Amino acid sequence: MNNSIIEILKQKQLDGNGEKYIERMNSISQADVELELSKVNAAYSLERLMTLISPAATNYLEEMARQARQLTIQRFGKTIQFFEPLYVSNFCINSCRYCGFNRKSDAPRTRLTIDEAIADADIIASEGFRNILIVSGEDKEHIGTEYLTKLAEKLRQKFATISIEIYPMSQEDYHTCTVAGIDGLTMFQETYNSIAYKYYHPAGPKSEYNFRILSPDRAASAGMRRLGLGVLLGLCDWRVETLAMAEHSHYLMKKYWRSQVNFSFPRIRPALNTPHDYKHLVNDADMVQMMCALRLCFADSGITLSTREPAKFRDNLINICVTQISAGSKTNPGGYTTEKDSLEQFQISDDRTPEQIAQLVKSHGYEAVFKDWDRAFTK
Ligand code: SF4
Repeated sequence: MNNSIIEILKQKQLDGNGEKYIERMNSISQADVELELSKVNAAYSLERLMTLISPAATNYLEEMARQARQLTIQRFGKTIQFFEPLYVSNFCINSCRYCGFNRKSDAPRTRLTIDEAIADADIIASEGFRNILIVSGEDKEHIGTEYLTKLAEKLRQKFATISIEIYPMSQEDYHTCTVAGIDGLTMFQETYNSIAYKYYHPAGPKSEYNFRILSPDRAASAGMRRLGLGVLLGLCDWRVETLAMAEHSHYLMKKYWRSQVNFSFPRIRPALNTPHDYKHLVNDADMVQMMCALRLCFADSGITLSTREPAKFRDNLINICVTQISAGSKTNPGGYTTEKDSLEQFQISDDRTPEQIAQLVKSHGYEAVFKDWDRAFTK
């Protein structure tokens, strides 16, 4: 495969508002959906996904959920992985219009020293977590490869997997991170619509759509084993975004078969000093349709649901297609220990403790897994 994901999306006209796809999806009939649902375990194609996320398919959510559940149990067993975010800095030089960390926000900022970050990580480890996600705003001066390497060296003593959700890096820097033991990257494109992308990211390095979208390529080339994709649901039409994200995933899976691709479904949440008038908000039924459709096209992909979502909604989805959840999350640096009142990135919705959520998972007949594999197995 020679084309980059940028060229693929451009050729397929999935880097814009996707008008032609909206029109095609609106013309899909219930008979088309029934035919597609009769092809159990069919491989991904844009046509299949379009049918499953079409307005006509909303009448088949129950059947889609049934098939998604079956497939998830077949591929992942009755297990739910647990992870916890570790926010290390809410300094940021970007201007994302939807984020409380954006550079125009005059709220007080916090960044953690290595020792402070480890203090938070110790709390996370004491709750039983062995999968940790380092999160930061674009704060390169403080959260650079030197910081990440030092932090990862210490975290490795307590955590089986370490992932990052920070700013896009060069392949060389990703390589430095993988050598230090960081093995997963989460990089949400936020929106694949390049025009909307410009609007929501008016300044700062994040305004570079192309550099961001190629981050998973650079990370996978540098050896990262897990690649997390997502769009910020609420910015643009969710159906078109789902098609673009699926194309991105399909491309990565073919090109970097050693890495696993995971999907996340962050819905816009209220954040300090940000507008609240999004035109494309996604309701619960839309989101379930999106998740089930992706499961029915990508049987082996992880599906992550964070504490952004309300408890009841998460509880129901555990039984359908989710494979990984966060629990007891703090979205502010130092939130677990020293800086309990520092600026949060967004308000969480499910504030139950990890223990409560693990009990709930068990009550559904699932195993709550705080550690899925050991780094030593992959050496
Ligand atoms: S979304 Fe990320 S990059 Fe954008 S302002 Fe918030 S922390 Fe910074």
